[in-house]
Amino acid sequence: MKLIPIGVGQAGGKVVDQFASHDESGDIGIVVDALVINSSQPDLVALRHLPKERRVLIGQSQTDGTGVGRNNEKGAEVMNADIEDVIFRLEETNLDDSDAFLIAAGLGGGMGSGGAPVLAKYLQDRYDKPVYAVGILPASSEGKLAATNTMRSLNTLVYHTDNVILFDNDEWVAEDAEAPLQVSYASMNDRLVVSLTTLFAATEPLGDGAVGEQVLDSEDLRQTLTGGDLSTLGYSDTELQREDGGLLGSLFGKGNVPESSNTEVRSVLQEASLGRLTAPAPLAGTQSILGVVAGPAEWLSQKGLDDASAWIDDEADPDEIRMGDYPIEDDEDGEYMAGIVLLSGLAVVERLIDIYDRVVGLSNAPGLEGAEIEATDVMHAFFAGENSPDPLFTTDKTDPTQIYVVNEDVDIDDQMDTEDAFEWRSIDPDESDGGDTLADVNASEEAFSGSGSSGDTEAESPDDSGTGNSRDQTQTTEDDEDNDGGLLSGFLGGDDEDDAE
Ligand code: GDP
Repeated sequence: MKLIPIGVGQAGGKVVDQFASHDESGDIGIVVDALVINSSQPDLVALRHLPKERRVLIGQSQTDGTGVGRNNEKGAEVMNADIEDVIFRLEETNLDDSDAFLIAAGLGGGMGSGGAPVLAKYLQDRYDKPVYAVGILPASSEGKLAATNTMRSLNTLVYHTDNVILFDNDEWVAEDAEAPLQVSYASMNDRLVVSLTTLFAATEPLGDGAVGEQVLDSEDLRQTLTGGDLSTLGYSDTELQREDGGLLGSLFGKGNVPESSNTEVRSVLQEASLGRLTAPAPLAGTQSILGVVAGPAEWLSQKGLDDASAWIDDEADPDEIRMGDYPIEDDEDGEYMAGIVLLSGLAVVERLIDIYDRVVGLSNAPGLEGAEIEATDVMHAFFAGENSPDPLFTTDKTDPTQIYVVNEDVDIDDQMDTEDAFEWRSIDPDESDGGDTLADVNASEEAFSGSGSSGDTEAESPDDSGTGNSRDQTQTTEDDEDNDGGLLSGFLGGDDEDDAE
């Protein structure tokens, strides 16, 4: 499936920048074009890969390029005010060659958390393409504000996207507890980018002459994603060992593929499902599951796929299972097999339950007072909106191209009751009353040329935990410059130490 990834805010921007870089250096071809949107100029300058015309600075009149801090209402407001500029820049990309949008954002901060749902809504209204999102959940150490931002953002985002793929920093930061956060982010972003690449590339048409046992296409992926609101990804890879091929084998330097190669297919998919998911979630209760194994054609087997399907059916009992394979060429360094599993329509996400508890309190979940609390009830309460913080914005039902941004100046308890609580914005450029002109935005881009350093970090209000407020200007440790390509290195290259499950 071919994508236009759009990063909003710092975390989303870094992920999309790296995703586009990985796609290009690996010659993979699923990233048709990409954009990064931010109100913080230093964060845009700090990106490594995307050209300046793909970095969109918004909210200059409100923030003067310094960002919105951790205020996600402000993030929603600046996106709403400058949406015409964003759409204008989007129209300059190769939109027609893409199958879907993929918005990436950190949900615990300000710009991505607030801006992503607003952008998603406008994209859904305007284009006839699915809008997917990657939502990064904050680590629990980031405090209550990050949790509240996440809840308000996700609560809005799920209603304006076709699926939100979750990535839980809390799960991934744990292993690197001793490492600085920036180092953890680099390896987390590597894992996220490799998982996304494998998923979206493995449903692309096969190269000339390649034959798979059971090939999936982008429609399979679309249906799996449409089959649920929230999803998580599991990834695993393994180096393959041939058996001694006797005299002929040793002459030609290659042994035989073992007869039990179907076991490799099954186990790489099992390990992907049971290993570390981008966001931990039980397999059981997942609505729709897609699994793809990529490896040398000789190693792929229909029996392996059938066994993996049967196993997943037993473990998760989903409504739909799609399993396929994707033959890839050998890597110079050896033969590898990678498995990716998409669990879509998650019944329970443990981290969201933690977040609900932190923001609302489990005992306040409607109908749960005094009862034994079931995880699925808390999930329902998270998204039902009762006893929850207000959504970031509401839509004008009479004209769905317009949204009301919840006005931060109004007492939060009154927000949903009074007309004054909303600021009215229009998607029509002629009626726009706020934000920068395109000339302003273009002029500001001068700042990106020349300077390679990130400059100042953004000034923000103090963080309640002391960790979540850091502006990470450290670059990711991607290996794109020396990655010489090939589909296999596209799948596996740039990966981190966590692969060996
Ligand atoms: P914004 O620029 O206002 O959208 O703020 P950020 O993008 O910095 O969002 C803050 C959240 O994103 C925090 O909760 C962090 O957990 C997370 N975050 C920041 N940078 C990264 C990153 O590079 N990778 C990951 N996985 N998470 C990040």
